[in-house]
Amino acid sequence: MDTSLLKKAYSPEAFREQGHRLVDLLADHLTDTSSGKSNKTIAWNLPEKEHEYWADFLENGNEQNFFQTVIARTTHVHNPKYMGHQVAPTAPMAALAGLLSSFLNNGMAVYEMGMSSSAIERIVTDLLCKKIGFTTSARGFLTSGGTLANLTALLSARKAQVEHDVWISGHGEPLGVMVSEEAHYCVDRAARIMGLGEQGIIKVPVKTDYSMDTSKLEACYQKAVEDGIRIFAIVGSAPSTATGIYDDLDEIAKFAQKHGLWFHVDGAHGGAAIFSKKYSSTVKGIECADSVVIDGHKMMMMPIITTALLFKNGGHSHTTFSQKADYLLEQAEGEDWYNLAKRTFECTKTMMSLYWFILFKTYGNAIFDEYVTHQYDLGQRFGKIIQENPDFELAVPPASNIVCFRYITDSLSDDELNILNKTIRKALLEDGEFYMVQTTLKGIHYLRCTIMNPFTTEVHLAQLLQKIKKTAKEIELSRV
Ligand SMILES: *Cc1c(COP(=O)(O)O)cnc(C)c1O
Repeated sequence: MDTSLLKKAYSPEAFREQGHRLVDLLADHLTDTSSGKSNKTIAWNLPEKEHEYWADFLENGNEQNFFQTVIARTTHVHNPKYMGHQVAPTAPMAALAGLLSSFLNNGMAVYEMGMSSSAIERIVTDLLCKKIGFTTSARGFLTSGGTLANLTALLSARKAQVEHDVWISGHGEPLGVMVSEEAHYCVDRAARIMGLGEQGIIKVPVKTDYSMDTSKLEACYQKAVEDGIRIFAIVGSAPSTATGIYDDLDEIAKFAQKHGLWFHVDGAHGGAAIFSKKYSSTVKGIECADSVVIDGHKMMMMPIITTALLFKNGGHSHTTFSQKADYLLEQAEGEDWYNLAKRTFECTKTMMSLYWFILFKTYGNAIFDEYVTHQYDLGQRFGKIIQENPDFELAVPPASNIVCFRYITDSLSDDELNILNKTIRKALLEDGEFYMVQTTLKGIHYLRCTIMNPFTTEVHLAQLLQKIKKTAKEIELSRV
């Protein structure tokens, strides 16, 4: 058998040469984007065209150009004019930890397949538990995303709260969870995966500021009980994704305690506010939660995808998935915190603890205080700039770095404004200088910015508003 290809693929010299080249490319990319030198956040292309391009590249392209071509043809989260979805512009050091994980490829399911990264995972999750305000009996682990972490938390909640063990005996009585109607869709999805069905997702209405209306909790609960549903958990959003508004965690905690419910905090986006001296009050009450989710790849500057799931009572962190798998999982005497697949949904996962550790070790907790506070400050500032501008209207004064607003003009109805704002967003996407997204709240179409980038300034925000206004005028003119 000729193994020349394998020798080529594992050549240390080729790796060294290409690795240096890639780091140089990314460092140049960081310079060009963060300095504002590059004039596009996204070079928009239709899916069919992009598909065509890459199909052709596979046949005719030069692989020496692959890295730079991908960089050029993708969305630039390090550009200060990137204000779109909630993914962080990766801190370079954390990206390097990602490379290390990709190369070493320890599978993390059992201690032997990731000794350092398993021990490190214990250290970073302990650190997060402490910062939340949990005691030393708290435990956590890392998993692949907020979606999976929320599902895992609700599975743990059901295991802990419901006497009839669904894990062993299948479904018994109808079960339900309570959550705000503005919560991330993955909570609804998790409940459906768990077989709770539509009836098992009790959606609590929101107030005018889009936070959970806690005055309605008791009535929602009683109605569900009358319908024969056993509620076992309630989820607070910190904050909710569309609006960036936090639920009142203190109030939800009180309600959960009154009815003996599991209290889960979905802090995928804003749980990181535990590190901000100025904004930690947004998550007041988080220390009362039974479980908390915090995404590393959102407000903690890490590569996609890594999420911490933290339990107030550490005992719950390893009882969710009780299974035998003799080829992998040994029965243990004590708490074998280091055999992570017993706790996680995944079997194999990346050595994601490295991203967390390198940032904590290199820059200390202070970097997360700086990041969250700086981004949230800018969100508040953007809210004020919009409020002072008669051409724009805020959906709600921002409580974080998520800002929803729309372009307005007296001559148009809400329906017409919805169409206009949708058209503006499409035009801006195709233009590509800025990248922002959109959402609909109570039937009104809003433009939505999440200010993720540490290099974004008020100047960029003012330029965005100017561009939107100019675009709106052009759209209106083209209609006449
Ligand atoms: C982003 C988000 C999620 C989903 O997390 P992923 O890491 O994208 O799976 C869940 N809940 C909230 C509140 C979010 O903002």
